[in-house]
Amino acid sequence: MTIKVAIAGARGRMGQEAVHTIMKDQNMELVSVLDYKEIGETLADTKLFPQTFTVPIFMDLTELSSKTKPDVLVDLTSPESVYQHTREALELGIRPVVGTTGFSDEELKELSAYSAEHGIGCIIAPNFAIGAVLMMKFAEQAAKYLPDIEIIEMHHDQKLDAPSGTAMKTASLIADHRKTHNQGHPKEKETIAGARGANYDGMRIHSVRLPGLVAHQQVLLGGDGQLLTIRHDSFNRGSFMSGVALSINKVMELENLVYGLENIID
Ligand code: NAP
Repeated sequence: MTIKVAIAGARGRMGQEAVHTIMKDQNMELVSVLDYKEIGETLADTKLFPQTFTVPIFMDLTELSSKTKPDVLVDLTSPESVYQHTREALELGIRPVVGTTGFSDEELKELSAYSAEHGIGCIIAPNFAIGAVLMMKFAEQAAKYLPDIEIIEMHHDQKLDAPSGTAMKTASLIADHRKTHNQGHPKEKETIAGARGANYDGMRIHSVRLPGLVAHQQVLLGGDGQLLTIRHDSFNRGSFMSGVALSINKVMELENLVYGLENIID
């Protein structure tokens, strides 16, 4: 069965990659695009895509739905619009696959209840990079045996938040299996504030910001006479696309909302 897909945010950096990923996939058809600016009638009019990309653009999700009948809406827009898009898609019976971050806990609870009540699958994935999700899972497992851990996350110097969401998520998954304890010497003293990094449950997180980097993370797990290093690198936005494709396929089998790619990979 061919999965009919619509995209919101197709002009963006992630959206453009997603358009190409879906166009190339034999099991998917890109049937329409949702935008909020008048940018033309088809993707080709945006000048961002080849002239052969004649996928129609809509500014209203209800009209998009009735004219092109997508099974899935991929949202790669902004925190301001993502909740509205997701809610409307569910109400129209379209399964949302959402990469945009910015939901409140309440919004997530509400969407989750709606999705389960109406049996419509929904995936919200703050990190589509499968390698990054595996890194978190492996670190979570390893923490049971090697509970002294430091996380080093490295990103481009335009990133505003530190530590990264992925580092926080990694630490929180590890914390579920690791007995809280402070690491390092009990009497250790920082000569320069921050030298030992941020303290999460006694684990340390270090944030590196440099031009040239994209998104990278190492989890260092130390034991007597040994060190285990689990590392993931995203070199470009292509790293997120296998997760987008996986989610489009998986959401067709779901009848509830799943938050986080780690919950759909075995
Ligand atoms: P971006 O380049 O700014 O792209 C966002 C696009 O969405 C822009 O073209 C924007 O148009 C458009 N847009 C904004 N509001 C819209 C609306 N109401 N309807 C339709 N289109 C709308 O950002 P990006 O780097 O592609 O990232 C997009 C989102 O994905 C961000 O929230 C980012 O944090 C998230 N992200 C997620 C992952 C993941 O793995 N889950 C990875 C990277 C990024 P204008 O520019 O004209 O406003």
